[in-house]
Amino acid sequence: MEKHITVCPYCGAGCKMNLVVENGYVVEAEPADGVTNRGELCLKGLYGHDFVNDTKILTPRLTHPMIRREKGAELERVSWDEALDFTAERLKRIIDEHGAEAIMLTGSSRGPGNEANFVMQKFVRACLGTNNIDNCARTCHAASVIGLMESVGSGAMSVSIPLLEETDCIFLIGYNPAASHPIVASRIVKAKERGATLIVADPRVIETARIADMYLAQKNGSNIALLNALAYTIVAEDLADWDFIEGHTVGFDEWWKTVERYAPEAVADVVGVAPEQIRQAARLYAMAETAVIGWGMGITQQRQGVDSVHAIAALALITGHIGKHASGLAPVRGQNNVQGSCDMGMWPSLYPGYQRIDDDAVREKFARAWNVPIEKLSPVEGRKLTDLPHGVADGSIRAFYNFGEDPLQTEPDTAQMRRTLEDLDLLISQDIFMTQTTTLADVVLPATSWGEHGGVFTASDRTFQRFSAAVPPKGECRHDWEIFQDLSCRMGYPMSYTSTEEIWNEIRELCPLFFGATYEKMEGLGHAQWPIPDIDHPGSPELYGGGAFTTPDGKAHFFATDYESPTELPDREYPLVLCTVREVGHYSCRSMTGNCKALAALADEPGYVHMNPLDAEARGIDEEQLVWVYSRRGKIISRAALDDRINEGAVYMTYQWWVGKCNELTLHVTDSQSGTPEDKYGACQVEPIADQ
Ligand code: SF4
Repeated sequence: MEKHITVCPYCGAGCKMNLVVENGYVVEAEPADGVTNRGELCLKGLYGHDFVNDTKILTPRLTHPMIRREKGAELERVSWDEALDFTAERLKRIIDEHGAEAIMLTGSSRGPGNEANFVMQKFVRACLGTNNIDNCARTCHAASVIGLMESVGSGAMSVSIPLLEETDCIFLIGYNPAASHPIVASRIVKAKERGATLIVADPRVIETARIADMYLAQKNGSNIALLNALAYTIVAEDLADWDFIEGHTVGFDEWWKTVERYAPEAVADVVGVAPEQIRQAARLYAMAETAVIGWGMGITQQRQGVDSVHAIAALALITGHIGKHASGLAPVRGQNNVQGSCDMGMWPSLYPGYQRIDDDAVREKFARAWNVPIEKLSPVEGRKLTDLPHGVADGSIRAFYNFGEDPLQTEPDTAQMRRTLEDLDLLISQDIFMTQTTTLADVVLPATSWGEHGGVFTASDRTFQRFSAAVPPKGECRHDWEIFQDLSCRMGYPMSYTSTEEIWNEIRELCPLFFGATYEKMEGLGHAQWPIPDIDHPGSPELYGGGAFTTPDGKAHFFATDYESPTELPDREYPLVLCTVREVGHYSCRSMTGNCKALAALADEPGYVHMNPLDAEARGIDEEQLVWVYSRRGKIISRAALDDRINEGAVYMTYQWWVGKCNELTLHVTDSQSGTPEDKYGACQVEPIADQ
């Protein structure tokens, strides 16, 4: 038996583990003493490794390249040379006929790692000549990235996961850590045991709400009203830190002109929480010595996602709960390397290291390093991932290069997404499994899996950690960065990397934020947390020390917005709110967890629709009964799970099931600023299926 130290491939907590290998197969995962997990792993960490072995429980590993020579033909097995020649020729033809802007690409925020993403975005920019590169953060925390960059300078967590244990007050809103980041939840429990005050705002009585000092049972879609009311109370009751506001911020007076209309009484109906409870929560947060606000998709996957992030930042700014030890803002990222995808410039307006594409000095630096004329590097912002349906419909996007994601499973309005993918001239899917999206591809490129390659992941709190190969690649699978490199060479822009370390060193050289993060520092249990600008720098567990914000003027900025109701409100025909959520045993599109024996055994298709027993009773629905769930977009079969911790008038579903896929029902409406879909709010109806 051998043991290989690595990083969990699932959530952004970044837990370290040892993979135990026997006869070339991964047989066990053991917790390691990582900076985040300190010897603990959750369910997925412990039992989510055998997908690497090609268990074929849900879907087989991809082991050889395939192409579809023409629409309607079958996928056929070909050599790597033929697959890459075919891809290069088709991409060149599209560029010749429609320009590089007709190609859209998405990076992978999952197992491939930072080096693969860096090489992909270099291929996109230096070879193809477009900024049409994005990643799945668009559908999760893009609103956090944009809102925080505008408010405080950086789109990432300003504190670290371990520091949650040291803070005096944790306020969670729209975030269910027990399901999405169990090891973060464990840190929150420890903070609570140490005496921290816990405030939870969520429509459902989630696990952390059960141990909270104050639980605000807000209505679905009421974030802005609640956040503004909390801020109003803090200012109106003179609990604000006026020195901090004066010394480190800009825009308070203008912000207050909006927020002063949000007395808790004024929004009680919208929020559904008693005014005195809102006041109490505001006092607890404002009067704590140190405090952290944590949030997730409940904030960002809303019509007013960026506005809500601005409102959260404003709470930290008026209280001075940022820029000091164990205080700050925690948008906890979902996928294991979604922070890394953003770090690597899988973003239509940013190069790696959060350097702007429209900054001429930055463009010059990248052009020199990549040996291309500056004109090749476009200063024009590229397309967002959620532009894909519109872009294909109007003919401006003709090809989509899908790297390690499954939009047909994970994006809203499946019928629209299916039409979009089918209407493309060219769909390339580079993945480890035959996913829903890959079944429609014209080119299938099989990549090595987590466990078969190494590199660097970035955890949600900006922590770089190395992960490593434990077993040899399956079949003809190749490393992702080698595939991009080969394709780039075929398209006239040669690359010649020989290792991930060589790629990583180029990233360090080009990105001042990351320069001190050497492979050596990240060996074994080592880690490096950006900003880490030089070799001797210890890394940065916290940002903005002393109020040094990283906005262009060095000040934090207030932005206020009025509450707007969600786009599709319940009505007589569709009287229930449909909200998509996560569950602890499965991850993303389920291609990985669905192929793990222990995790696949947890539940079977169709998945569940979670609803309040009173809503079920009103419809004659019993526990475990098969039901129809339908919306204006579609109709699916599901199974009822009755739970009085679910608020009346709303139902909750996870999106990983193939049968009973809730994205058949969700609507493709996005936040106008971030492009993040409003996955947390749509209208639906549930009814029992007769004759069971
Ligand atoms: Fe993996 Fe996240 Fe669980 Fe840690 S908390 S073991 S990173 S899934």
